[in-house]
Amino acid sequence: MAIDTDVLGSFSPTVIIVGCGLGGLACAIACRREGLDVTVVEAAKELSEVGAGIQLPPIALRIMDRFDLIPQLRRAGLQGQVKCRILRWEDGSLIGLRPEEDWSVQKFGYSWHTIHRADYQRVLVEEAKRLGAKIRLNSAAASVDCPDISPKVYLESGEQLQGDVVTGADGLHSNTRTAVLGYVKNAKESGDLAYRINRDYRATYWGPDSHIVMYPVKDGQLLNMVVIRPDDLPAEVARQPGDIAEMRKMFEYWDPCLRRLLDNVKVALKWKIWTMDPLETWTKGSVALLGDACHPTVPYAAAGAAMAVEDGAVIGRLLGLVKDSGVSKEKLPGMLQLYETIRKERTTTTVATADANRDLYHMHDGVEQEKRDAFFGDHDWWDERRTAPYRFADFGFLHELFGFDAVEDAEEGFLMWEKDQQK
Ligand SMILES: Cc1cc2nc3c(=O)[nH]c(=O)nc-3n(C[C@H](O)[C@H](O)[C@H](O)COP(=O)(O)OP(=O)(O)OC[C@H]3O[C@@H](n4cnc5c(N)ncnc54)[C@H](O)[C@@H]3O)c2cc1C
Repeated sequence: MAIDTDVLGSFSPTVIIVGCGLGGLACAIACRREGLDVTVVEAAKELSEVGAGIQLPPIALRIMDRFDLIPQLRRAGLQGQVKCRILRWEDGSLIGLRPEEDWSVQKFGYSWHTIHRADYQRVLVEEAKRLGAKIRLNSAAASVDCPDISPKVYLESGEQLQGDVVTGADGLHSNTRTAVLGYVKNAKESGDLAYRINRDYRATYWGPDSHIVMYPVKDGQLLNMVVIRPDDLPAEVARQPGDIAEMRKMFEYWDPCLRRLLDNVKVALKWKIWTMDPLETWTKGSVALLGDACHPTVPYAAAGAAMAVEDGAVIGRLLGLVKDSGVSKEKLPGMLQLYETIRKERTTTTVATADANRDLYHMHDGVEQEKRDAFFGDHDWWDERRTAPYRFADFGFLHELFGFDAVEDAEEGFLMWEKDQQK
């Protein structure tokens, strides 16, 4: 989309990003690519994404391509997924086979990939720094002040930082969210937890109240396993080392092949899965939330980080357009509301899709499960004329979720918003 940048002004917003997770880093890169001054403050003393894998669906690849980062990610161990085999819990028999690489490229423009989280984060950090973003570790934000002009971040050290825009990319237990809403809103327990494990095998199982996803990371040297089961952690505990014997017991009647795999697991981190109803607002004054801070989701559409990365890329592009089109500082709160409007419907649909996938994966044996297995056993993933009763296979949803260009959508939204401002 062509944007007329040959106009007016030179106001270049300075941006403070709270949180150096995947969403905050994407926002930093997007803002630096627009030439904005960027400071990221991160509570952790060092950056070390937990030792587990992450799937990059086509929408995440689209943003990484926009950032010109696909070669670096490949060098860091990005793996293309060949196909997704869906197996029955009890005996590992094949329920269905979703094609990956070719199918995904043909239908959505980009393919599906996996990587170790630490490798993904490292590539983004290096790029943000290379572009000139200032990343300050050991700099926890204690609170955020959200006026229309010149918002402030107060660090726990007592230092104050002031910018034109603050973005709260501080994740599930976001302080910035409290500042934006004016009250504490905690994420809800979803009722599930995940064991996060690294092993050397690949498959996906669907079974009663549980499912298991496995995919390779580290150039295929290691396999990431996410074992989802009902949550039994106390309300106040978000994660703790898992009891391996207890985990094996939970799956004692599952496929013997899977059990042999679990028999070899020595360490598994037990990780509570959170969710949240849509927030009433994501912005206050010139402060806006992004990623898990405003739309945490159960990870059953493999799209939580991809949404955070899209949010970051959209904020960067919109602020770049502000800079190029001469929009004044006073208009920043309105522009951030535009960001919220553009993103909220999409992320709310994604959260609902992930919830629907949970029902699909976790069916108990019975009539509905037999219908599901018969459908996927016979499903042609290439034929768009066939309607599907499940979002997981419905082309309407799949195109909406994975074929979407978030930045182009933001550019269109900005043009309309700008016209409205001139009325
Ligand atoms: C088991 C599991 C599997 C998943 N698999 C996938 C997948 O395959 N694909 C996918 O797209 N998504 C997946 N997700 C979801 C994904 O992990 C999250 O949606 C994503 O990491 C959110 O990114 P974020 O940047 O918004 O937040 P975070 O990654 O949580 O980053 C927040 C950052 O803010 C920092 N911070 C917090 N408070 C402060 C403060 N006061 N001051 C300064 N810094 C602060 C934190 O230290 C952290 O670095 C999965 C989630 C789980 C639980």
